[in-house]
Amino acid sequence: WEVARPWFVDPDAGQWKQTTSHPEEWFQGEYDMVYDWTGAIRIVDLKASIGRGDRSGSYIDQLRLYCWLWWETHGRADEVEALEIWYLGTGSVKDVPRPTQDELLGLTEELEALYGRIHARDPAIDECPPEPAPLRYFDEGGVPSQTPIDPDPRARCRRCELRGVCEGSEHDLELPLERSIERFGHNWPVTPLGEIVTRVDVVGEVSGLRGPNLAADGSVELSFILQEGYDRAKVRPSRYGTPRQVTRSITNGSRVRIEDAMASVWKGEVVLDLDDKSSVAIADESDSAPIVDIETKVNAIGRVWSVNAFPDGEGVTRWSVTMVDQTGSAGVVAFRQFIPLAAAGVTRGDEIAILNGEIGEFNGQPQVRIGPGGRLVILRDSSEVPEF
Ligand code: SF4
Repeated sequence: WEVARPWFVDPDAGQWKQTTSHPEEWFQGEYDMVYDWTGAIRIVDLKASIGRGDRSGSYIDQLRLYCWLWWETHGRADEVEALEIWYLGTGSVKDVPRPTQDELLGLTEELEALYGRIHARDPAIDECPPEPAPLRYFDEGGVPSQTPIDPDPRARCRRCELRGVCEGSEHDLELPLERSIERFGHNWPVTPLGEIVTRVDVVGEVSGLRGPNLAADGSVELSFILQEGYDRAKVRPSRYGTPRQVTRSITNGSRVRIEDAMASVWKGEVVLDLDDKSSVAIADESDSAPIVDIETKVNAIGRVWSVNAFPDGEGVTRWSVTMVDQTGSAGVVAFRQFIPLAAAGVTRGDEIAILNGEIGEFNGQPQVRIGPGGRLVILRDSSEVPEF
């Protein structure tokens, strides 16, 4: 199948992929075409463009990686005879020099280290310095321009879509940093996005305990009511994971400290969702973190970085955007009947306020949900503020 790939030219073929994976499964790629009618292997990549601009530099790396992948998946034999980029826009073929044996060995080492650094785990921010690669210029057919590399080492930042939020660029987005806002005859306190607290610690007494049941992977299923005076909260595993750090001594009547739970209010009741970042430990008598102090509502202001979902009357029933301010970013989401009418007018770059939103978390990011009582206000249109 590597050589023939009949589906590649079949317009009726469905959406599916058949990729080649490194034997250790940390790299995969999908060749456009591989020819072997000379007896040796030629790897061809098709480009619909005419081959101008910086990307043509990356295509050279792409072809060299295909060569390396073939070598790794065919007993490291010297089988690849040629690497070619076919620019359909100009009808020309560009030959890419094959990596030498030493370069192939070097690629294995470099790519595996890179995988370990940025893919196998989340790198820390200081491991990702804002140091752009030089901007390369190519003419039609992927031929290097007369000035092949921009003399300005930060040239890439000029048109980078992250220039407004990257510390490597001085582009000013006029991102908001508000502490309050006047609307609807009311002064609303505003929490900067970077200060939204999505996790809470609470102390109380356990009742109605179900579990704990320990699963084979070390996670613990349990639910109970946490009570403190007249206040109560329902504690349950989150939909996105179950806790691991749960005291084995938990019983009805024990006093426990829950840390890093995600709080919400459902039908007037406080709900605490536990996931693998949360813990439940026995608390001593003097320990205190009242349920009544839990903050589940927030007012937030930011510029819309992206519109991620919009209801389409079929499968999608939510409206979701990502917004940014000077301190960070947060997702905003509303479902079905809670999607505000004003959402239809929100576009990328607008400055918006969410009033009376519910604090949540999604994929480790703060999220503001618009539920009953939540409001969306468009403060400034994207045309009134600097472009992203
Ligand atoms: S602005 Fe873009 S190109 Fe420049 S350093 Fe930041 S992320 Fe890299």
